[in-house]
Amino acid sequence: MIVVKFGGTSVGDAAAISRAAAITRGRLPRQPLVVVSALSRATNELLAIADQAAQGQLILALRGVEGLRDRHLAECQTLLGDGSDADDVRAELSAMCDELAGLSEALSVLGHLTPRSLDAIAAYGELLSSTLVHAAFCRYGLPMELVDGRDVVVTDELYTRALPDLEAITERARSVLLPIIRRGRVPLVGGFIGRSHAGVTTTIGRGGSDFSAALFGAALGAEAIEIWTDVDGMLTADPRSVPRARLIEEIRFDEASELATFGAKVLHPSTIAPAVQRGIPVLIFNSRRPEGHGTRITPDAPRRAVTAIAGKGNVTVIRVTSSRMLLVPGFLRTLFEVFERHRTSVDVVATSEISVSVTVDDPSRLETLMVDLRALGDVAIERNRAVVAVVGAGLGGDSATMARALGALHGMRVHMISLSATEINLTIIIDGDRLVDAMRALHSEFFDVSPTGPPTPTPTPTRPPRPEAA
Ligand code: ADP
Ligand code: ASP
Ligand code: MG
Repeated sequence: MIVVKFGGTSVGDAAAISRAAAITRGRLPRQPLVVVSALSRATNELLAIADQAAQGQLILALRGVEGLRDRHLAECQTLLGDGSDADDVRAELSAMCDELAGLSEALSVLGHLTPRSLDAIAAYGELLSSTLVHAAFCRYGLPMELVDGRDVVVTDELYTRALPDLEAITERARSVLLPIIRRGRVPLVGGFIGRSHAGVTTTIGRGGSDFSAALFGAALGAEAIEIWTDVDGMLTADPRSVPRARLIEEIRFDEASELATFGAKVLHPSTIAPAVQRGIPVLIFNSRRPEGHGTRITPDAPRRAVTAIAGKGNVTVIRVTSSRMLLVPGFLRTLFEVFERHRTSVDVVATSEISVSVTVDDPSRLETLMVDLRALGDVAIERNRAVVAVVGAGLGGDSATMARALGALHGMRVHMISLSATEINLTIIIDGDRLVDAMRALHSEFFDVSPTGPPTPTPTPTRPPRPEAA
């Protein structure tokens, strides 16, 4: 069997949904399981509704709910037309929007938003989309069965980015999804959403439908996980920042994982882990151009000097300086325990004898984090930084690739540099407002053909493996 996941733009309107149906039909001989995201932008709109409601802007929030209702009903009308079946689906979509309006009213009375209530609201994106897409696919004659993602994805209670429990999910997938597939039918599941062991609705992080797809794939031992999106595959950079970005036909798990972590939103970073565990290839395709080659993420893709560039903004740098750190064993452990306690994950780290610099993406717990960090030394915070990542096997060779990367950033301030232990990722922290310039400069250094001939070749390293650490 295979898992076929359609992202928000691939189910964004009636035309996209009918393209997704045609793709699914072509996959029927391979026993697909279909995962869908919320309609494009719906999750953002739901989060805004929750925010507005909790801030007492109920009218605005309810207007948002009506916008979502109108959109889903309009696409439903285009896809299903009139008739009693269509009426039933419309009634179901509308009932969900009524529930949303009820939740918004409750939030406006409480005047307070918790991660738990945020998840209760965010989940409606996938609940609505899966209901709509299921009805449309059935109308196209596909043998679909709708499954509530929450009945399969068991998570912890870290609301808004809950951790899935793969063992429990495997058990549920075998008892809920497998019998459907064995009957020759196609389960259709909303991604992104789950339920805690106690039965409360959770979500598994923004962009998490990819992760859901990988979890189902791992749980059922899929032959492949297909991610259908709005670009031709994984490209040498985000095409929104670098229009000349090119398709990468094959990429290794570790490189794709680094790129996803450092901004290649085309794939949720956590997607890779369950796929790697089972050695399941992940394929990325463009639902607008299904005939394209796409990208294959596998353990044995060829190594290249530089495979791609990624980047992301809104990064915060935290620097802790402490003379006490000098020769004190266990200091780093104490420092990282602070981050763990405040559930803030660290992306890039650089240390010297008396200082440690780290970057964090999520500054929501910064205030309380700082209180604990100050107990360890002097703390400085730099907001509005960006990280660019150069990913490829050439970085571990000699210093030439690194020199070219830094040379391309000539004239830009560099605040931190770190080479991953795997030596396939050079991360560089720069000023936030230079992110696009930096991505373009790096991309043109490594991928553009110069007017006078082919690009300077960057040799793939041929040096012997690193000796084992003593
Ligand atoms: P979906 O809704 O299908 O999940 P996303 O918006 O999450 O789609 O991801 C697709 C987007 O990822 C693309 O439109 C593109 O702008 C962005 N992206 C960022 N980096 C890359 C990259 N290296 N290759 C391809 N797309 C990328
Ligand atoms: N709808 C969710 C989001 O926008 C999950 C996803 O699209 O993968 O984050
Ligand atoms: Mg996505």
